[in-house]
Amino acid sequence: MDWKDLKATLIIIYGQKENVSERWLEDVAKKNLVLFVNDDFHMTHDVVNGQPFYLNGNPLYKNYAFIKSEKLNAWILNQRKKDFEQFLQGQSESLKISRLVFFRNRKEVKPIKTANVVGYIDNNDSTQNSCKKYMVLSGHFDHLGKKGNSIYYGADDNGSGCSAIVAMAKYLGELAKNNALNKRIIVAFMTGEEMGLIGSHYFTATDFFKKNKFECNVNIDMIGRFDKNHQESKNPYIYVIGADRISKDLDSVISKTNVRYNHLDLDYRLNALDDPERLYERSDHFNFAKNGIPSVFFFSGLHEDYHKTSDTFDKLNYQLFHQRTKFLFTVVSELAIRKSPLR
Ligand SMILES: [Zn+2]
Repeated sequence: MDWKDLKATLIIIYGQKENVSERWLEDVAKKNLVLFVNDDFHMTHDVVNGQPFYLNGNPLYKNYAFIKSEKLNAWILNQRKKDFEQFLQGQSESLKISRLVFFRNRKEVKPIKTANVVGYIDNNDSTQNSCKKYMVLSGHFDHLGKKGNSIYYGADDNGSGCSAIVAMAKYLGELAKNNALNKRIIVAFMTGEEMGLIGSHYFTATDFFKKNKFECNVNIDMIGRFDKNHQESKNPYIYVIGADRISKDLDSVISKTNVRYNHLDLDYRLNALDDPERLYERSDHFNFAKNGIPSVFFFSGLHEDYHKTSDTFDKLNYQLFHQRTKFLFTVVSELAIRKSPLR
C-alpha cells in the first residue's frame, strides 16, 4: 500500500482482543485502511478469526497494518483521539485521511479455569546437582478447540512439539538416574498460548519464577512438517529463532551439537530482526526472553493447514519429525549437563 494514495477513512481498532469477522474486514478494507493498535503484538496479530495477518503476498490484507505500542494504545484508550489525529496528520504532508474512525474492540470476557502442566526432573541424588539454576523445556498444549461442529486438531500445532517433549523427558529421566544433570529441569506444557501466550505469562509472573534463577528456555512449537521454503529440496531442516539474541553461548551449543550429532540444516531466516512474521514474539519463549533469559524457539514453519481444521496427524512427516526430536534431545541434554553458565 502506498501511503501517499491514501484518501480513505482510517479505521483504528484498538483495545482488547476480539475476533473481528473476516467478511466485515474484507468489506471495509476494500475502501479503507484498517489499523490495529495494541500493546501486545501477538494479540493484534491473531485478531481476525484467529488467523495471522500475512503482510506480504495476501491481497486481502493489503490495507491492514498494525502497531504494537503500549503508549499509543493507552493514549487512545485515554480518549486522546484528537491528539492522535494530529499526530497522524503531522507525519506526512501527503497523508490525506478524509475521516478517522475509532472502533473499540471490546469483548465480554468470560473467565474459564485452565492450567499449565508442569513436571520436574532432577538427579536421583539431588545433592549431586551443584547447579541451583533451572532450565525450562516448553511447548504449548492448547490449540483452537472447537468452533461449532468444527474440530481444530492441531496435530502439528502443537501436538508435534508436546509429543517430542514427552519423549525427551523420558530420556532426561535416564540422565537423572545417573546423576548426570547439572541443571534442574522443568518440563512445561503451557496453556493458552493461542490466546496470547497466557500460560507462559502466568509462569513468568509466579513467585517461584521470581525467586529462582533460570538458565534458559527451549521452546518447541510445530516441528512435524515441511514448509514451502523446503518443499522442493526436502533437506531435513529446522528453524532456529532467537538463540543468539540474549546469549551467544546458547546459539553455539545448538550449532556445535548439530555438527557433532545431527547434521540438520539450521535455518535462521525467520530469526531476522525485520522478518514480517515476527515469530520471535509469537510463542511462549518470548515471555522468558522478556525476562532476560536466553531462549530459543524451534519451529518447522507455517503451512496451508496452519490454524485450520485440516492440521491433522496424517499430514506430519514422521521421519523428519523423528530426526528433529533426536536433534532437540541432543541440544537439551547438552544444555542440561553443561557446567559453565551461558553467556
Ligand atoms: Zn503453536
